[in-house]
Amino acid sequence: MCNLLSAALLCCYVVGTCSATDVKRVELLANSDVKEKIKKENSMELRIYPDPVLLNKCAEVEIGDPTVKEILNEMADKLYKWNGVGLAAPQVGILKKIVVIDVRDEPPTLYKMINPKIVWYSADSLVESKEGCLSLPGLSETVLRYEKVKVEYLDENFNKCELEAEGLLSFCLQHELDHLEGKLYIDHLSQSKRDSFLDKFIKLQASKPEENKHEN
Ligand code: ZN
Repeated sequence: MCNLLSAALLCCYVVGTCSATDVKRVELLANSDVKEKIKKENSMELRIYPDPVLLNKCAEVEIGDPTVKEILNEMADKLYKWNGVGLAAPQVGILKKIVVIDVRDEPPTLYKMINPKIVWYSADSLVESKEGCLSLPGLSETVLRYEKVKVEYLDENFNKCELEAEGLLSFCLQHELDHLEGKLYIDHLSQSKRDSFLDKFIKLQASKPEENKHEN
C-alpha cells in the first residue's frame, strides 16, 4: 500500500485481476518502455504497474529462512523512504509472503510479517476505504474493506503472532495481503471503474519525466 486516506460506508464487488484489455495495455507499455520494465530479480526497486511481478502469487517463506530478516529490514527502510504505510514483497520484486506495515499510530508500531494470513474478518461489516498504492502512484480510489480482521503471522524471529485490527490498520492489512495474492486494490473496483482508473494511470505515467516515474 500505499497511501490510505479515509474511510466511510458503501458496498462492493471483486473483479478479475487481469483482463484482455490489461494484456494489451501491458504490451503497449512494454513496447514503448522496455528498459523501464526490465528489472533485476534481486534489486529492491519499487515495482510499478503493469510490472508482471505484481500480478503473481507469492510463495510461503520457509521457517528459519536466513534471508528474511535482511529483506524485512530493507523493506522497512523503503517503507519510510517512500512514505508508505505498508509495503508487500512483490512491490520490490520478491515473490515471498513478506509484508511491513506502519500506519503511524500513537505509539508508532512497525509490523514485520512473515506468511501473514487473515483468519477472521467482520463479514457483516464492510466500510469504504480511500486507498492509494506505491505501485500505482499518483491516483487513489475508494474500495470496500472489512472493518475488522484478525491476522496470524510469524515475526522476524519466526514466533507465531496474532493481530486483531480495525480501521486504517485493518484496511492496510487487507491491501498488503492482497498484494501477496497478486491482487491490487483496483481489482476491488467494478470493471468500468477499473478500466477508467487504468486509462488515467497510463496517461499520467506517460506524462511524467523519466526520472520521476519511480519514487525511490
Ligand atoms: Zn499497494
